Parts: sequence; C-alpha cells; structure tokens
Amino acid sequence: MKLRICHLYPDVLNLYGDGGNIICMQQRLKWRGIDSDVTRVMIGDRLKLSEYDLLFIGGGQDFEQEVLLPDLQSGKDTEIRAAVEDGLTALTICGGYQMLGQYYETYDGVRCDFVGALDLYTVGSRTRMIGNTVFHCTPECGGSTVIGFENHSGKTWLGSTVEPLAKVEVGFGNNGEDKTEGAHYKNVFGSYSHGPMLPKNPAFCDHLLETALTRRYGAVKLEPLDDRAEQTAHDNMFRRLTKHKT
Ligand code: GLN
Repeated sequence: MKLRICHLYPDVLNLYGDGGNIICMQQRLKWRGIDSDVTRVMIGDRLKLSEYDLLFIGGGQDFEQEVLLPDLQSGKDTEIRAAVEDGLTALTICGGYQMLGQYYETYDGVRCDFVGALDLYTVGSRTRMIGNTVFHCTPECGGSTVIGFENHSGKTWLGSTVEPLAKVEVGFGNNGEDKTEGAHYKNVFGSYSHGPMLPKNPAFCDHLLETALTRRYGAVKLEPLDDRAEQTAHDNMFRRLTKHKT
C-alpha cells in the first residue's frame, strides 16, 4: 500500500508551516509500515491529478493568491474541478481552501476568480480573524475535535451543495458569524486551520488518510498508534482555550 501525495504550490502557499501537515501524514503512515511519496507541483509545472491519492494545498496571503492566479487559470483549475468531482481526497488550508471556491474578493477590491470546485465564496473584511480555535468536525468528517490556529481577513460563505467541516466552539471559523468552520464536499476537506493542523489532531489526520487509502485500495482501517504525546498536546490546548472562551 502506498499513498501518493501532491503538494500544490508548496513554495508560494506555505504560511505558518502548513507543509508540516505532509510530514505528519507521512510519519503516521510510516509508523504503520505504509509507504508514501510527495510530488511538489509549482507554478508552470504540469498537474495530472489521476496520478495521486491526496492533494494538499496550504495557505497564503492575498498577494500570493493573486500571483498564482494566471497559472491556476491556465488549466490547473479544470483539472482540480474534475478530480474533486471524481472523489480525489484533498486537504486545503486557508488561502488554499479559499482557492477551491468560486471567487475571493479582497478587501481592496481585487476579484480573484478561483477554481469553483466548491460551492463557496470569500469576501475580504476589515476584521482580521486571528487566534487559536476549537472546532468539532461533523460525523461525516470523522467527528473529532480539532485544535487550530487561524489568521484570515476573508469571510467565507458556503453554498447549498457543500457542508461545513465543523462547528466552531472557540474562534471565528468561516466568517465569525454563522459558527461554521471549513467545508466538506465529496472527499475534500477545507479548513482555516494553520499550525500545522494535523500533528496535534491525530484523529483528523487518520480520517484523511483512511479516506484517501480507501478510495484506492477499498475499505482501509488504520491500526491505532500510541498517541499519548499528541493527545496530551491536544487536550492541554482544549482545556486552555475552552476555559478562557468568552
Ligand atoms: N489571504 C487570505 C485572507 O486573509 C488567506 C490568508 C491565509 O491563508 N492565512 O483571508
């Protein structure tokens, strides 16, 4: 068994060590004797998503999102849309999450027409939504509680054909108003959570890995690992954040 990971725009979209999510996925597979490889796809490179089991896109500022737009619109957008419909597993963070939506209108009025794989859009606001977060994933997204960190000014609004990834307990989530966080459509999981997100949320990491491996190999249930260190980090943050919430 082997997981083939595609890391799209790793040099442009990698805020707050988002790439650490890949290290975490690979390590959790390795501990179970499962192989993986990562292909880094940059601006100008060809993207053929049928060659992969999991697509990862990190976050970036408005500036970087605008920089990569011509490359995205030169064919990668259609490739991503088709792969998402076909059930490719994806984890996309913040700027990368916004990028799979219909569009992003920045606070200074620049409109970025994005991929349109997910029925959602984002509008820049004056408020910067920043800080640690706690959110509860829906049962379809594994049902775990995630500790995260967000920093965005874009407010994301979900359309009727996507579901939220989670319900916010602490923090802003998609827009600071409707208590939703992230999005889930087919096998795509979008989130505002940087950090990187996965090391202190091992249950969510395994849910992603199982989703991706199951699509390729048929029902895969990963064996449990000794997650005491990860769980302690998770639980300490959970206690701190929920104690101080207003
Ligand atoms: N540029 C986007 C925003 O501020 C995304 C930022 C990010 O990826 N952290 O909304």
